[in-house]
Amino acid sequence: MSVTANLNTVKNEIEECRNKNRIIHQVNLLAVSKTKPFSAIAEAYSAGQRFFGESYAQEACEKIDYARNNGYEDIRWYFIGPLQSNKTRQVAEHFDWVMSCDRHKIARRLNDQRPAFMEPLNVCIQVNISNEAQKSGVTEDEIWDLANYISSLTNLQLRGLMAVALDTEDENILRQEFSRMYSLYTSLQKQYPQVDTLSMGMTQDMDLAISCGSNQVRIGTKIFGARNYTREQG
Ligand SMILES: *Cc1c(COP(=O)(O)O)cnc(C)c1O
Repeated sequence: MSVTANLNTVKNEIEECRNKNRIIHQVNLLAVSKTKPFSAIAEAYSAGQRFFGESYAQEACEKIDYARNNGYEDIRWYFIGPLQSNKTRQVAEHFDWVMSCDRHKIARRLNDQRPAFMEPLNVCIQVNISNEAQKSGVTEDEIWDLANYISSLTNLQLRGLMAVALDTEDENILRQEFSRMYSLYTSLQKQYPQVDTLSMGMTQDMDLAISCGSNQVRIGTKIFGARNYTREQG
């Protein structure tokens, strides 16, 4: 299947899911292009896609530089991967959004390193909703302190929450995690009215995430095919 056909399938599934669950808000689709060549991004772009997610700073910045120099400057780039301190400058200088902020130090560095001529960097807090030791993200209790800190930084704009659910086919567990995220999101929104993004749902759990209130899904495999992990880099 082609990227264009896959993209249309995913968009139709999102609409079907919204209709079935009587969801009135829009669901934003991030095409997750990590490890994929720019030609795949270009094909999705031709099919109308403008929002792309990337996880590996070095690889992503090369693609972003290429895009800006070759007529794709209206793409919006979302950093969705684990973020190390030594990569924050590259990310602050290239991306429109960081979906995976999970500590004060990273927020402070992104703020300090965001170039003055660029718009404030949109930031979501990643929540480790499945409480897995190896997974990035803050605990539910830590959200408020980090949100308060991010909202005090002038070069960052707090926009919402992101989560990766447990890798399971158990719908009850997934529903519990997504529903908890939705409730955390509505609480955060009460305190910070600019908060408008609840990013959850990937290829395996997209429908369930939307039915629980997600307004942004991050889809890689279903659009671009399986990833070849030997190509991955930091
Ligand atoms: C890779 C990745 C995705 C996309 O996953 P698929 O299962 O390929 O749709 C979404 N979110 C994050 C944080 C990722 O790292």
